[in-house]
Amino acid sequence: MRTAQQLKADPTSDVRSVTILGSTGSVGCNTLDLIARDLDRYRVEAITGNRNVQLLAEQAKKFRPQIAVIACEDGYAELKALLSGTGVEVAAGEGALVDAARRPADWVMAGIVGGAGLAPTMAAAQRGATVALANKECLVCAGDLLLKQVAANNATLLPVDSEHNAIFQVFDFDEPDRVEKIILTASGGPFRELTREEMASVTPAQAVAHPNWSMGAKISVDSATMMNKGLELIEAFYLFPVEEPQIEVLVHPQSVIHSMVAYVDGSVLAQLGAPDMRTPIAYALAWPSRMETPTPRLKLEEIGTLSFEAPDFKRFPALKLARDALMSGGAAPTILNAANEVAVEYFLDNSIGFLDISAIVAEMLNSISHNSPSTIEDVLRIDAETRVVARDLAARMAKKQ
Ligand code: NAD
Ligand code: MG
Repeated sequence: MRTAQQLKADPTSDVRSVTILGSTGSVGCNTLDLIARDLDRYRVEAITGNRNVQLLAEQAKKFRPQIAVIACEDGYAELKALLSGTGVEVAAGEGALVDAARRPADWVMAGIVGGAGLAPTMAAAQRGATVALANKECLVCAGDLLLKQVAANNATLLPVDSEHNAIFQVFDFDEPDRVEKIILTASGGPFRELTREEMASVTPAQAVAHPNWSMGAKISVDSATMMNKGLELIEAFYLFPVEEPQIEVLVHPQSVIHSMVAYVDGSVLAQLGAPDMRTPIAYALAWPSRMETPTPRLKLEEIGTLSFEAPDFKRFPALKLARDALMSGGAAPTILNAANEVAVEYFLDNSIGFLDISAIVAEMLNSISHNSPSTIEDVLRIDAETRVVARDLAARMAKKQ
């Protein structure tokens, strides 16, 4: 994937224009934090948020993009007022998000959470941009279609998810058949040591308190159920030239080794670092070069011990559901993702219990069947239908609570 020619074609002295989809989120803020440290090298073209008008306006005043887009149309008037006189254009709505992704930025951070990021990410791929992909749900619900779009338009996909970024750094793309397997590490989340009985009564506040990473609410709950690793398994399948049985998951509570690649000669290559998303984001932002970051440096002598354990599919059924969905193929990953998004939303809202999340996903995979999506419209239809049925089930479960 990374060739000497590309290295030459991208002199580090050039100014890179960047668009950040989801600039108000955890990944988005970390991306802007890095950009703020090197304003000679990066120029912000567009930023987008969902509801947080205040933060979006603050970012727009600081980084002076051409345009700031608020997805939720209710926020338009306030954003317009906050940015009046700044020269920053203001727009709102889903269509405006796609338009923002179409603007001619060299590099686009796909940092929106969930299926909502699919249309703008596809739009960026369609115009051949370099897309830094944090939004794993895009690949899960429309992996084949997104990859086709990337290939057809000569776009570049750079993995931002820390595990995939680690693999990207150590994978030998020139000799993929010399790779025996890839090993995705998982922290195990905040409930790694809990029994199913104990998990039944955990609260949203406990679920979002991740032991190692500071992230948005949805991915934090996904980490607690380990659905995050399940989504990442599917993400890895699409990003790297390996088959499903070659992707292994290994629980590693310290989150120091971000993932590994095992080769046919017995060598295992790993990427290590402090658990700070600015390292993988920086790798994608400066790619194919590297930039300096303020990320805390790894002090292995202070950490002392790294430990590993096999994942427990009985206590964390989400991981198994995701692997099964990947093996079934067709519409299953789209259904898995949509059902999970709905279930997490109901859990965060305190309407259903923690164990109900995987139960809802399992039920949707059992009860909904569809042909393999062959267009984005198919994906959106399957996604919307799954959400309706999953909401209905979640609402019934909520009444019983
Ligand atoms: P977050 O909740 O902190 O931020 C999400 C961003 O998306 C915000 O800017 C929000 O305004 C925007 N958004 C939400 N719903 C939207 C909608 N319907 N339309 C338009 N915009 C919308 O989430 P995050 O933790 O930054 O995660 C973003 C993505 O990156 C997720 O897919 C997540 O799985 C992935 N990721 C995050 C991390 C991390 O450390 N946070 C690590 C790896 C991967
Ligand atoms: Mg990850």
